Amino acid sequence: MKVTVITAFPEFFRAFFETSIVGRAVERGLLEVDVVDLRDYGEGSYSKIDDYSFGGKGGMVLMAEPLALALEGLKGDPYVVYPSPQGVPLTQETVETLFSKGDVVIVCGHYEGIDERFVSSRVDLELSIGDYVLTGGELPAMVIIDAVSRLVPGVVGKGRSVEEDSFFKGMLDTPHFTRPSSWRGQDVPDVLLSGNDGAIEDWRRREAVRRTLERRPDLLSRSGLLGYMDKNAFLMLPLSEVSSPWEIRSIARSCGFYGVSKLLIPVEDRDTRDSVRSLILREDLGALVKLFPSVARALRWVSDKEKAVPYMVGFNGFNSSGLSWLEIKREILKVSRPVIFMAGGDEKDCDVTMRPVAGDDRSRSALPVQNAISVVLDRFFGWR
Ligand code: SAH
Repeated sequence: MKVTVITAFPEFFRAFFETSIVGRAVERGLLEVDVVDLRDYGEGSYSKIDDYSFGGKGGMVLMAEPLALALEGLKGDPYVVYPSPQGVPLTQETVETLFSKGDVVIVCGHYEGIDERFVSSRVDLELSIGDYVLTGGELPAMVIIDAVSRLVPGVVGKGRSVEEDSFFKGMLDTPHFTRPSSWRGQDVPDVLLSGNDGAIEDWRRREAVRRTLERRPDLLSRSGLLGYMDKNAFLMLPLSEVSSPWEIRSIARSCGFYGVSKLLIPVEDRDTRDSVRSLILREDLGALVKLFPSVARALRWVSDKEKAVPYMVGFNGFNSSGLSWLEIKREILKVSRPVIFMAGGDEKDCDVTMRPVAGDDRSRSALPVQNAISVVLDRFFGWR
C-alpha cells in the first residue's frame, strides 16, 4: 500500500509516520509513505501557494497551479483524495475502497480550502471525516491513513483479527479488559477468565449484539446476522410457492450461499415427495434440503434440533401490512431463537410477516419467488 501526502505543513507527519503501529508498518515496508511539501512547488521567490478568495472577505485559498505541479511530480497514476468537510463521509467501506486502490495521494487543504478548479479536474474523491470544520486537511489525512493501514496484512498484531473490530462485519466490537482481573472493586466478567473458549465466544458475540442494538441500531441494515445469532436460520418453502421443481435447485443454492442451515420443504403427497427427493439426489442437494410430510413436522424437527421454538418470519408478495425487514432483523437478534423464513407465510402461521420486497413497478405481480428469496436472504445474511 502506498500513500503520498501533499501538504503545506509536512512537519505534521514526521511523528505520525514514526510512531506506534503506523510507524512500525512504515519501518517494515508494509506501508510506503511519502510527504510532498507543497511549498517546493510554490510561485516566485516566496514560494507562494495561496491567495485571496475571489469575491470572499479576506480568506486565503490554496492555488491550483502549485497543487497541480506537486501532483504531476508523482510517479504512477495515484487515486487522488481531497479531505473536505463537503466530501462524502468516511466509513469503513470507503476505507476498504481506498485500500483496494493500492496507490493513493491525499491533498491537504488549508485556510478556506483549495481552488475549486483543481478539485473538479484532479480529485477523484472528496472525503469528510465528520460534520465539523478543521483548520486543515492534515489531521483528516492521518485519520484516513491510519484506518487504511490497519487493513494491510501484518500491520495489526498477530492473533488479532481486524474482522472483529467495529464496523468490519457491520457490528460494533465487544468490550475489552486486561489485567488486573479486579480493579478498584470492579471485576472482569467471570466468563473471560473461565478458559472456556466456546463460552467466551458466545459472550463476545452477545455483547457485540447488545452494544450494536443499544448504541447503533442503524448499523444493522448493513450487517450479516449469521455470526451473531444464538441459533441457526432455516428457509421453509411450501411446494405451492414454486412453479416448477427446478426452482428448488436455485433456491437451495441461495440458501447455501448465504449460510442458511437447511431448506425445509413440506410435501404432503407421497408420490410428489418421492419425485422431489429424486431431483434433490440427482442435483446433489441432499445436504441443503430436507423434505417433510407437513409444515408441523418440519417445525418439530427444527425445535428438536435447535432445542428452542423457532421464530417464524413470513414473507409473501401481497401482504403489505407487515413489519419492515429492519425491524425484523432487530427482533431476530433479541429473541435468541432459531429463525425460519417462510416463503408465502402470513400472520396466521408466523410470529411476524415482512412487508413484500418492493420495486418501482407496483402494477405487476410479485417478484418471482426465487428472486424474492435471494433479496430477503441478502438483507439478513449478506455481507455489506
Ligand atoms: N471553507 C471550507 C472549510 C475549509 S477548512 C468549508 O466550509 O467547506 C480547511 C481544510 O481543512 C479543508 O480544505 C479540508 O482539507 C480540511 N477539513 C476541514 N474540515 C474537514 C473535515 N470535516 N473533513 C475533512 N477535511 C476537513
